[in-house]
Amino acid sequence: MDTISQEQRSRTMSKIHSKNTKPELLVRRYLYANGFRYRLNVKTLPGSPDIVLAKYHTAIFIHGCFWHSHSCLQGRLPKSNVEFWTNKLNRNHERDITVREQLTAFGWKTIVVWECQLKPAVREQTLKEIVSILNEINLKQLHKKYQLPESTPIRIAAEDAKTYGE
Ligand SMILES: [Zn+2]
Repeated sequence: MDTISQEQRSRTMSKIHSKNTKPELLVRRYLYANGFRYRLNVKTLPGSPDIVLAKYHTAIFIHGCFWHSHSCLQGRLPKSNVEFWTNKLNRNHERDITVREQLTAFGWKTIVVWECQLKPAVREQTLKEIVSILNEINLKQLHKKYQLPESTPIRIAAEDAKTYGE
């Protein structure tokens, strides 16, 4: 039995699932300071993405490493109640995949930012990467809009449904 750790976990869960969690705020503040405008928790889109940049047709998800089974240390399964956690986390994972497929089908791009990528040591780098992905998406949109020839330089083409840092 690990009653205490379960209690702690459910507290962590309610914290992670609540709005305006700290990692989300970090991303929002940085984007805002860099001139990006967005909407939050858009319920009309699949998975109600944390941050939606309509102009870029891009949805950003800030994923907690444990709840979304990241490949980092925090994403590891607990040692007790393995079956319970396996089922629960698998369901989360399936849902994440479905949501991204739906968004892609609707013509949206998705960026996943993991909580561990917002730790102080790597935060700045991650935030810069997000901005550069958004700029690439914007460039690609402009090319499409003005039907510029392929030879017009784009540094890196943004993928559909790009996952940051996987
Ligand atoms: Zn992680």
